[in-house]
Amino acid sequence: MLLRERRHAACFLSDAAYQAQLLLRQHTFAWPSNTSGPMTDAKRPKQSSGQLTPTEIPKQVSKKISAQRRDQSSREQANLDQSRLELVEALRGKGIHDRRILDAIGRVRRDAFVPDELKEAAYHDIPLPIGQGQTISQPLVVAWMADAMELQPTDHVLDVGTGSGYAAAVMSLLCATVHSVERIPELAQRAKARLIAEGYENVSVRCGDGHQGWPEHAPFDGICIAAAGREIPAALRDQLVIGGRIIAPLGNDRSSQTLYRLTRTDEHQFKREKLGKVRFVPLIGAAGWDEGH
Ligand code: SAM
Repeated sequence: MLLRERRHAACFLSDAAYQAQLLLRQHTFAWPSNTSGPMTDAKRPKQSSGQLTPTEIPKQVSKKISAQRRDQSSREQANLDQSRLELVEALRGKGIHDRRILDAIGRVRRDAFVPDELKEAAYHDIPLPIGQGQTISQPLVVAWMADAMELQPTDHVLDVGTGSGYAAAVMSLLCATVHSVERIPELAQRAKARLIAEGYENVSVRCGDGHQGWPEHAPFDGICIAAAGREIPAALRDQLVIGGRIIAPLGNDRSSQTLYRLTRTDEHQFKREKLGKVRFVPLIGAAGWDEGH
C-alpha cells in the first residue's frame, strides 16, 4: 500500500472510531440477542474494558454510521426533489404552460449547478451567483427563452454565455444538440465537467468569444444569447438557418434591457419581436460592453 493510501486509511479509521464513541454515548448498544440458551464465554462478544480502538469497532456500529449517512443524504435529496416540483408549479403559475419545458425544468437538478453553500436556494425562482461575477439564470427566464425559441426535438442550438451550464442542460432536453460558448475559462471548465457528471451527452462547451458563434457546427435552428448586448453580433445572424430564431436581451442600459426574438425570414431579412423587460449580465465584446466597464 502506498504511503498516501495508508494515511487515508488511518484517517478513516480514527474518524470512524470517533463517531463510534459518539454513537455509543448516544445509544444503548444492542449486542445480538442470545436466542439459544444461556450466554457462555464462547458466545459472549469480545469486549475490551477501556476505550474502543479502531480495530475493535464493532461491525454494527460502522453499519449504523453508514446507514445514518445514507439516510441523511437521501433525506436531503428528497427535499431538493420536492423543491424542484414546487419550482415547476411556481413557473406554471407564472405563465409557462409548455409541458415539455416544465418537464425539462422538473428533470434538471439545478442544485448541481450552483455552489454548495447555495444548494438550499437552488429552487427559488431567482438568479444566483456562480463566481467570477456571473450568475446562473433565473429558471423563469430560462423557461421563457426556451419557449420563445420554439425548440423542436431535431433542432441544433447555439448557447452564448454558458455560465453554470444550467440553461444548456434544460435546452438539451428539448432539442438534438446544444453547443455552448463561455468566455471565462474557469466557468467553461466547471460547466463542462458538471454537464458530463449529470449525463448531458448532447451538450458541448467551449471557451471562447460568443461573438464568433461556433462556425464548425453552424447553422443553428435556435441561438440563445444569455448576456446583454447592444446589438446581435453579425456572425450569429449568419449562423442561423432561414426560419431559425435568435433570443437576445438588447439595450443601451446596463441595468435593464428588452428581450427580443429575431426570426430569419430569408437570406437578408429578420423579423424582430419584443418579448418583455429583463436584466442580464453584460455581453463582453464588440456588440456589448468592455470588460470591467
Ligand atoms: N444561462 C447561464 C446559466 O444558466 O448558468 C447563465 C449565463 S450568465 C447570465 C451570462 C454568461 O455570459 C456569463 O457566464 C458570462 O461570462 C458570459 N459571457 C459574457 N460575454 C460573453 C462573450 N462575449 N462570449 C461568451 N460568453 C460571454
